[in-house]
Amino acid sequence: MIIIKQGGDEIISGASMKDVPNILWLEEIRKEDIISVGGKGASLGEMASLGLPVPKAFVVTAQAFRRFLVEADLEEKIFKLSDQLDVENNAALEKAADAAKTLVMKAKMPAAIRDEIRKAYKKMSKSDLIVAVRSSATAEDLPDASFAGQQETYLNIKGEAALLLAVQKCWASLYGARAIYYRAKQGFDDHTVNIAVVVQQLVHSEKAGVMFTSHPITGEPQTIIEGSWGLGEAVVSGSVSPDNYVLDQRSEKVIDRRIANKKVEIIADGDHGTKLVDVDSARQDAQVLSDEEVGKLAMYGKIAENHYGIPQDVEWGIVAGTIYILQSRPITTIGNKSEAKGMSGQKQDAKIILQGQGAAPGIASGKVVIIRDVKDTGAVKEGDILVTRMTNPDMVPAMRKVAAIVTDEGGMTCHAAIVSRELGTPAIVGTKTATQLLKNGQLITVDGERGLIYEGVFESSAPAKAATQQGGFSNAPIITATSVKVNVSIPEAAARAAATGADGVGLLRIEHLILGLSKTPGWFIANHKEEDFVKELHDGIKIVLDAFPGKSVWVRTLDAPTDEFRNMAGGENEPHEHNPMLGWRGIRRDLQSPDQFRLQVEAFKRLWKEGYENLGVMFPMVSHPDQFTAAKEMMRGWGVDVQNATLGIMIEIPSSAIMVEDFIKAGINFASFGTNDLVQYTLAIDRNNENVADMYAPQHPAVLSLIHNAIQTCRAYNIECSICGQAGSDPKMASWLVEHGITSVSANIDAIAKIREAVARTEKRIILEAARNCDAE
Ligand code: PEP
Ligand code: MG
Repeated sequence: MIIIKQGGDEIISGASMKDVPNILWLEEIRKEDIISVGGKGASLGEMASLGLPVPKAFVVTAQAFRRFLVEADLEEKIFKLSDQLDVENNAALEKAADAAKTLVMKAKMPAAIRDEIRKAYKKMSKSDLIVAVRSSATAEDLPDASFAGQQETYLNIKGEAALLLAVQKCWASLYGARAIYYRAKQGFDDHTVNIAVVVQQLVHSEKAGVMFTSHPITGEPQTIIEGSWGLGEAVVSGSVSPDNYVLDQRSEKVIDRRIANKKVEIIADGDHGTKLVDVDSARQDAQVLSDEEVGKLAMYGKIAENHYGIPQDVEWGIVAGTIYILQSRPITTIGNKSEAKGMSGQKQDAKIILQGQGAAPGIASGKVVIIRDVKDTGAVKEGDILVTRMTNPDMVPAMRKVAAIVTDEGGMTCHAAIVSRELGTPAIVGTKTATQLLKNGQLITVDGERGLIYEGVFESSAPAKAATQQGGFSNAPIITATSVKVNVSIPEAAARAAATGADGVGLLRIEHLILGLSKTPGWFIANHKEEDFVKELHDGIKIVLDAFPGKSVWVRTLDAPTDEFRNMAGGENEPHEHNPMLGWRGIRRDLQSPDQFRLQVEAFKRLWKEGYENLGVMFPMVSHPDQFTAAKEMMRGWGVDVQNATLGIMIEIPSSAIMVEDFIKAGINFASFGTNDLVQYTLAIDRNNENVADMYAPQHPAVLSLIHNAIQTCRAYNIECSICGQAGSDPKMASWLVEHGITSVSANIDAIAKIREAVARTEKRIILEAARNCDAE
């Protein structure tokens, strides 16, 4: 461990950090400067040093931050706050974090640093440039430690005053409660952790996309470019079918160009965030890139590939004719089903080392990283394969980074399966022994469709996420009389979900919005942060509503079993239950915790008031109509016009299937089968227990009988009847449901195309058979 000496530059341990200036321009930065500029700064510097057109940027170095702490005399005071801190004591943690942040915000930035930042900003552009101000934390003893997502980023910053404030806010964010907790849990010495701030021109791309610098499947010297209108997020997330260009590097000619119908684009939304909008008709079928632009992009791609010595997956954007290279990383993963066909020869030779349930489709290769405890997720790097007993909500940030996910436990409806499908990340669950059999650093290939794990990496590689876009679900012009809706759990999946053309959202699981905050609802209430809770819910739900204008979105009230809350701040107050699946969850808990229920209703009320009439509310885990009536009365008491609100229930417990007529008489507007639970409660099979996974049978006659009877009752009363459990993503089951009269089916994003096809086929068969019967009469 490095010894810290206090005072001026002396405090910055290691000679390497001593003489570093307050400001470094990207062109001056090399990857060795990571201690001074953080991971983000170092990788941008590396790209700029190659002469790639990276958006202009400078970094306020970690040393500048240290000098600020020393000159403002803050070090002792801040270290004292964290030295004896018990980070498990939430109140104390929050108090220390608030005090440290206040110290940083109230202190004056040294005049020299302020002037240098001002000067650098002026040097970027004559007029005030709009910049993004991003934190890039660094640890002296572990230069490449990952602190991603722990500190703040400020977008759309304009003008000197706003910039200086944003820099200081980034500094203060080093002492956020979550960041302190994370460092303590990871065993970092807080005294040696610094923060650099990247100030970079914000590029609002008019057109953007991704490029593979060599053919991702065959490895041929061909550059493959995908491009569409607006920000690159639309291409990366798969919200749009992009144009596709192939440049042959030997002849330097564009040998193939496929111009897609680009219906939507993602653009900047005011000061913060982005929004999905329709592309005007004139640009929908227009070619995004000229041959000259393709040529230039390919040239930049080659520079990156030659430098890193391995084919690259490059993100690019173009504004007013200027090309920007935004990110470059090695291609480490391989394509999904469609590419897999091309690799079948290779796969036949490959050795299968483990098997489980294929929970999210796609194929990816990478290095195994075994996570035994959520506090170790810092070790997870972009492109790794996350192997763990079972994921939980705290792991979602790590799940976003990885190429594939493998778990010991769980079935098709466990946390890992649900989140992976929405992230578009291949996943295999229920392998039983992955964490024992696989080794850290081992190279493997995961086939998330078939549930197979192969030894080694298949040579051909293409990004799995990009590949899932090619599923082509957005252009299927199939119209069905039965509504085909989509399930959403994380708002970032909303754009991909909307791009399926689904008829609405049949289930929005809001607990994922909350679980991602790492604090229980009870914590927000106990700490008087109710408004934060309501805002988080409101903003997350709004993203989904905005993606589905005019289509119904059924938002389900909280339904997290108590064990999912355990690792979060406030989790220590959760009761220990013998069987959380049968415990205090869903409407039962809300009815007994009026504060928790009221805050959710407050978020709904605000959205209704803002005009989102398409929002319907769905209650989970109801077992008796009295529960529905009680929930409705509470909402009425909080000022909801319950007569006009769309309120419904999930049918997840046999009692609610049996009593559906009583629910209808109590006033439900719709019902939706939650078969994930209905199956487990009908058959006494724990849905997350891989030992009984083969007995988990959604098509068990008893389950089908409950569903059949409930559908008939709903039809008799003209009540919309739907399904949002995983069984609705199985074409056979969807077909059966249509035959039995269901009004809508809500499926996973990746299943929409096949469900729509199955539904359409079944509907046609019913019509055909009816016509034939008529003819015969
Ligand atoms: C279900 O039970 O089928 C369902 C959709 O809810 P969850 O998977 O969130 O329990
Ligand atoms: Mg359920």
